[in-house]
Amino acid sequence: MALTGIQIYKLLPQTNCKECGFPTCLAFAMKLAAKQVELSACPYVTPEAKTQLAESAAPPIRLVAIKSDGYEAKAGNEVVLFRHEKTFYNKPGIFIRVYDNLPAETIKATVAEANAYAVNYVGIDLTVDGFAVASASGDPNAFSAAIQAVRAASKRPIILMSRDINVVKAGLNVLKGETPLVYGTDIKNWEGFADLAKESKVSLGLIAGTLAEMAELTEKIKSKGVDDLVIDPGGRDLGAGLAIGTTVRRLAVKKNFRALGFPVITFPGDISDPGMEAIQAAQAITKYAGFIVLDHFNPATVYPLLVLRQNIYTDPQKPIQVQPGVYEINGPKPESPVLVTTNFSITYFSVANEVEGSGLPAWLLVTDAEGMSVLTAWAAGKFDAERIAKAVKGFNIAEKVSRKRIVLPGHVAVLSGELEGELPDWEIRVGPREAVDLPAFMKQAL
Ligand code: SF4
Repeated sequence: MALTGIQIYKLLPQTNCKECGFPTCLAFAMKLAAKQVELSACPYVTPEAKTQLAESAAPPIRLVAIKSDGYEAKAGNEVVLFRHEKTFYNKPGIFIRVYDNLPAETIKATVAEANAYAVNYVGIDLTVDGFAVASASGDPNAFSAAIQAVRAASKRPIILMSRDINVVKAGLNVLKGETPLVYGTDIKNWEGFADLAKESKVSLGLIAGTLAEMAELTEKIKSKGVDDLVIDPGGRDLGAGLAIGTTVRRLAVKKNFRALGFPVITFPGDISDPGMEAIQAAQAITKYAGFIVLDHFNPATVYPLLVLRQNIYTDPQKPIQVQPGVYEINGPKPESPVLVTTNFSITYFSVANEVEGSGLPAWLLVTDAEGMSVLTAWAAGKFDAERIAKAVKGFNIAEKVSRKRIVLPGHVAVLSGELEGELPDWEIRVGPREAVDLPAFMKQAL
């Protein structure tokens, strides 16, 4: 059972030395109880206290990373059931599966296409995380050839899929120096796979038919000193997947049930209806997969999955922001207008995209409104005449323009009088309320 903040406090040195970055040991204890800091941040915990605190200090879901040269996909370390309670930390890795009975050129082409795919969403590049190579042939040589074909087209992390330890060993030989996930450990082969994991320092993906069997399997493997585990407890249709995913997360987070405190791997493509793959994957993103292996790479379905994942895994308490400053759109000239907005990403991209799409040149002045949208920032006192004037002066926009003309968002028309007082030599104009109306406004009114 997890310890409370007060119980943890009693085990700390209680000297309030502040070296952990917190003003008191009690403040540190509270953060530790909430699993927001690592115990290692306090250098003065005694070995006896460390043993007692280990349970409390460990996250309820183990962090497991799949690594390759320069890339990493990690899952786990989650501490809540619902995003609004705090946040979700590690986005589920999205992997594309290829089979070793396909021609090498086909594998290379699939992997190269998925590897090159990137979309920019509110200033963030979204991509798939890696590839899974499944042994369909059962032949170690075919397996290693397929992995080589993947590596010829991508350096991203790899999941090796086989229950045959000789096949897996052949695959690991190709991936020396990497930390792939080896998926295929079950109740029959676990001892050999546990030895292999210890020797090769790889993570294991476990397969079991029920949660009880999975809990038994993880305990057996942990007793061998292997802790980096990923679990596949079944649930291949929407209902079963939801029930199992939720039960695993609930047991881990609420009951601190360590035997199931591992990231879950899912295979939405394993169901008979391929049209359901994206729907199943969307559910897995929200409830509560750590790694998702798709059988098809299709930008039309991967794009919404990446965006959904990004939205679910942003901290609800920290809006996505862009850097405040002056952005040039369509090669503005000194006589071009200055448009003002806030640094909330979605607001910025709405305005920037509309103006860019119109082909009309403009200077876009992005003010620091702590990542809030226009109306929210105005209501919170983070987007007022004083702040706008400070941004105008701070970013020296007057030096770029010959005509001092600034356009306020229509939602904050009320600021125009005050802004005239702050910027007496500027012409203050009130623009439309919605970004979509900006092009027409710029054509007709500027
Ligand atoms: S570093 Fe340790 S002893 Fe010092 S304030 Fe933090 S918890 Fe207390």
